[in-house]
Amino acid sequence: MLRQHYGPDIAVVFIGPCGAKKNEGDRHPELLDAVITFTDLQAWCAEARIDPATLIAGAEDRFVPENAQEGALYPIEGGMIDTLRIQGGGERIHYSTVGGLRGIEHVLGGLQPENVTLPIFLELLACRGGCINGPCATPGQSGLKQWQEVISRADVPAEPVLRQPLSNIDENICDLPLPARTYGEQEIRQALRLVGKESRDDELNCGGCGYETCGDFATAILSGHAESSMCLSFLRVQAQKKANALLHCIPSAIVLADHSLKVLDCNRNFAKLLDPELLEAYDICQGLSGASLMRILPFTDLFKEVLSSDCSLHREALHVGERIFDLTIFPIEAGQVVGGVISDVTDSELPREMIAQRGQEVIRKNLKTVQEVACLLGENMAETEILLRSLVEGFAPANRVNPHSGPQ
Ligand code: SF4
Repeated sequence: MLRQHYGPDIAVVFIGPCGAKKNEGDRHPELLDAVITFTDLQAWCAEARIDPATLIAGAEDRFVPENAQEGALYPIEGGMIDTLRIQGGGERIHYSTVGGLRGIEHVLGGLQPENVTLPIFLELLACRGGCINGPCATPGQSGLKQWQEVISRADVPAEPVLRQPLSNIDENICDLPLPARTYGEQEIRQALRLVGKESRDDELNCGGCGYETCGDFATAILSGHAESSMCLSFLRVQAQKKANALLHCIPSAIVLADHSLKVLDCNRNFAKLLDPELLEAYDICQGLSGASLMRILPFTDLFKEVLSSDCSLHREALHVGERIFDLTIFPIEAGQVVGGVISDVTDSELPREMIAQRGQEVIRKNLKTVQEVACLLGENMAETEILLRSLVEGFAPANRVNPHSGPQ
């Protein structure tokens, strides 16, 4: 359909939250040139320093050839069934949704085709909640919020519409069971250690990787079907460790605060910069979490400004008492979390300011001298001009006396 619309020379790329689509893409090179996930796309944009939010599409860049209408419901659990119902799909058919691999196993396990006596349509989703919970979707949002967003974007027709497909991409799926390989407890433990799971308590069984349990995920790693970067809790811990390492190694003072200006995190340099007592408190409490910035920092108004404007702010030489700070405040989460990087530049800034002041003084004095010289020059010029004029007038022909002519 896209090639009919845009011409045969285009490359068709599927972008979604689903790792399984890569396999599907490989099986259909005639349909898809490449499959990438949302996490691939995010990493690519970050690498190429592209912020999609700042791109403004012109009419010629519009990708969507037509409105997906009820098709936009597809990524949520039950969405596929909703689209069928909207198309008036079979009054007598019973519809049911099953989410999660365990659920699917429960419904289909041991099933013989002759046991299916009713017309039933099963929407079977490996990821509970639907594609919006796929392993390569952006985590962190509440499920209900995501559902609402999807539903509000779907342009559902008021009356049932029977749609004819523009292309036929039917496929017969054969039963190709994977050769089952079982792994011993030792091997499973080893694989779990790759994602930081040392004991049973570390196994969250959250399903974020697309597998029902951490054990299933470990089996998939051992079979070569999964990789450690698919475990969300592992990624979160890794990201936290990297952020902590940066926070505590950086020579500047860094503080992160919430919307009520309570410290979420800070480094030792932050406490050291402000007050020896604060440094003592930092060392005793292993941080300053929960402390009020308003009682620590004399310029919290600037933090409030960034929280409300959602724009970064930089002051190169902020004078606070006898000290001068170089300060950058930046929003982390709009209106919720703000960060600040502070350096004491008194030692380098003060001589600079003094030099600048002295320079101004020299310039002022020079100007004064130049003005005085100009003034003297002006006076001199005026006197010279008067003298020259009187001389010129004295020698003008009308005033010259002809010794051979009598008086006229
Ligand atoms: S995402 Fe990680 S913690 Fe969650 S089930 Fe998968 S392996 Fe376990």
